[in-house]
Amino acid sequence: MNDLQQRLRQLPQISALLDDPAVRELAAGRRREWVTRLVQETIDRMRDRLLEGKGPVRSRAELTADALETIRGEARRLLGPAWRRVINGTGVVVHTNLGRSNLPDDAADAARTVATRTSDLEYDLETGTRGHRGRGVERKAALLTGAQDALVVNNNAAALWLAVRMLAAGGPVLLSRGEVVAIGGSFRLHEILAETGCRLVEVGTTNRTSLADYERALEPGAVVLKVHRSNFTVEGFTEEAGLADLAALCRERGARLVYDAGSGALFPFDSLGLPPGETELSTDVAAGADLVTCSGDKLLGGCQAGIILGAADLVGQLRNHPMRRAFRVDKITLAALDSVLTAYLGAKGMPDIPTLALLAQSEDLLQERAEALLAALAPHAPGDWRGSVTAGRASVGGGSFSNASVPSRLVLWQGPHRDLERCHARLRRQDPAVVGRMNQEGLALDVRTILPDEHELVVTAFRRAWGAK
Ligand SMILES: *Cc1c(COP(=O)(O)O)cnc(C)c1O
Repeated sequence: MNDLQQRLRQLPQISALLDDPAVRELAAGRRREWVTRLVQETIDRMRDRLLEGKGPVRSRAELTADALETIRGEARRLLGPAWRRVINGTGVVVHTNLGRSNLPDDAADAARTVATRTSDLEYDLETGTRGHRGRGVERKAALLTGAQDALVVNNNAAALWLAVRMLAAGGPVLLSRGEVVAIGGSFRLHEILAETGCRLVEVGTTNRTSLADYERALEPGAVVLKVHRSNFTVEGFTEEAGLADLAALCRERGARLVYDAGSGALFPFDSLGLPPGETELSTDVAAGADLVTCSGDKLLGGCQAGIILGAADLVGQLRNHPMRRAFRVDKITLAALDSVLTAYLGAKGMPDIPTLALLAQSEDLLQERAEALLAALAPHAPGDWRGSVTAGRASVGGGSFSNASVPSRLVLWQGPHRDLERCHARLRRQDPAVVGRMNQEGLALDVRTILPDEHELVVTAFRRAWGAK
């Protein structure tokens, strides 16, 4: 018998594992099928590893103990939520990988109510007949932006796809070579446009596209698409046609203009000291694009959604488009978005919305909070670590403000680099997990994105991570 056969002979049998008291206990009171699949999967993976032929030959008892531990661990994870709460110490306010914006409590309460109770989502209580899903929410979006009408869909990618699909109807879509963008891992503009069946006509160059470039390429019935440069900047020898100029050109030449505004600001962020870069949606709408699209969960501070703003006739046609059904949002999303838009309607200044509140925090306040956090952590730190409060930059994130940053304060830990990295890894394994930022100087926690009521949890997580040293 060769070495490989010998290894494989030591694999535990499925039936033996299913008969083990630990697995029996797991299956008791639950559906046995998924437990059996879990056992099967575990053994399959073990077999794959054995086939790679690495490591010493191990006995059946050792492999069985390994398999049981894997199964117990997996089962524990499966019987809890598939996500974990994270304390965001990265300093990226709208962090796409950490779920983008957090909802205000009111919005979460509204979502919970429609999730667990019946509502008139698609029912007209006056007439007792079928109503239009989302119309109340869409009216609020229209009033806040000055658009004649609005339509809510699943996300901005869907909004853009639907707008281009309907307006271009397979015809030409003009797009500046400087705006063929990729946002995040899966939003690649030219690929999405290809799926609308349109004919992409790239105009201008990467760094310079003038109004004349569009003018030359325009044909009747064409669509011009302008895309906000959300997550990058072009500097140096550059030129870009303005939205209002493009709108005038399109009107004159019988073409349609779609503007992907990206983030979707309903608040003047320059009043918070943020650099220019994100115009308000009302400005974009006033500039005269036929349709403006944006996300609901970036600077708007709501939930995942796409909002299409524009003229009543066009939005009406979009509402009746057969593909709208595929992009429609569910009632929980509508209730949350409704609540957030209501907050904007109800506020003269800044509405009470977490994403905005994080960006509005003053440096003095952040300094105070960083000092308090450092003082709470310091007694538990290893002797060879040094903690300090330093000035840093937090970024807006979420593809907003082209990577612009705002001043912030960091709790910075310095020490042996390997220890810092190990501690960061352990922090990520806590529940709630803590995610910070490793840089040249050390391990940093940006207090702009950590809520005051999370400090206690950060201290607990650090104590555990350090304690395991
Ligand atoms: C973020 C972004 C998108 C994608 O929005 P989703 O709501 O995530 O689909 C599209 N275009 C621009 C310009 C963006 O910034």
